[in-house]
Amino acid sequence: MRTRSVDKVIRGKRVTDGAGVRLVRSLGSEGLEQLDPFLMLDEFRSDTPGDYIAGFPDHPHRGFETVTYMLAGLMEHTDSHGHSGILRGGGGVQWMTAGRGIVHSEMPKQKDGLLWGFQLWINLPAADKMMPPRYQNIEPENVPLVKRADGALVRVIAGGADGATGPVRGVVTAPLYLDVTLPPNGVYEHELPRTHSAFAYLFEGSGDIGGTAVKQTALAAFGGEGDGIRITAGPEGARFLLLAAKKLNEPVARYGPFVMNTREELKQAFEDYRAGNF
Ligand code: FE
Repeated sequence: MRTRSVDKVIRGKRVTDGAGVRLVRSLGSEGLEQLDPFLMLDEFRSDTPGDYIAGFPDHPHRGFETVTYMLAGLMEHTDSHGHSGILRGGGGVQWMTAGRGIVHSEMPKQKDGLLWGFQLWINLPAADKMMPPRYQNIEPENVPLVKRADGALVRVIAGGADGATGPVRGVVTAPLYLDVTLPPNGVYEHELPRTHSAFAYLFEGSGDIGGTAVKQTALAAFGGEGDGIRITAGPEGARFLLLAAKKLNEPVARYGPFVMNTREELKQAFEDYRAGNF
């Protein structure tokens, strides 16, 4: 396998979003505004209630998908179409296709203790931006956990890896979403089609990604050449998310929670939202 090199490494940056949630943003900041079709990656991780308790009250989305992956704690989700549910730590996933539009809230369902998880934004192609909203809610026990002979642990959320297939199905960008824990000096390789962009977000330990030394928290964006990726853990091991998805190669017009192809469509999104059509 000819492995992909790393085009860019960015450090996670502390920001505040929602009603005052402190989080670490890597993708979607000035260091790397996007990696087609990926738009944003946030990590929230705190056992200080003041960092998360305000949550993300009602806000709209249109034109893309939001993916929440919970490692610890509970998050309650409620939307304008009458859906609600609890996202559970220990590996729960919500893959939400906002499509033509939803208004929702994402609020911690706990008063104290650790809240830890990730939110990823993935773009939709023009043909699917106005599709009806759709959810895939996955309980932690339904995410396959592969325990490899070399000591690596691989949670497969979407796509296929190590003989397992993730429970998230039917996503237009054919994504791979893995949570990989490597023992000290462990090695992880994964083949990827040339059609796909890919990045790794290392959130524990240290390692070598595509020939570049990284430590937590860092996002490494892979270049497009090569048949796959290779990550080697440092002496304390490493844990990282590995993401890949099909490039859209379309213009992106983005403002806050709306991601469309043109400025006119963005304007329409604001008008539809203000008119209460979400
Ligand atoms: Fe949201």
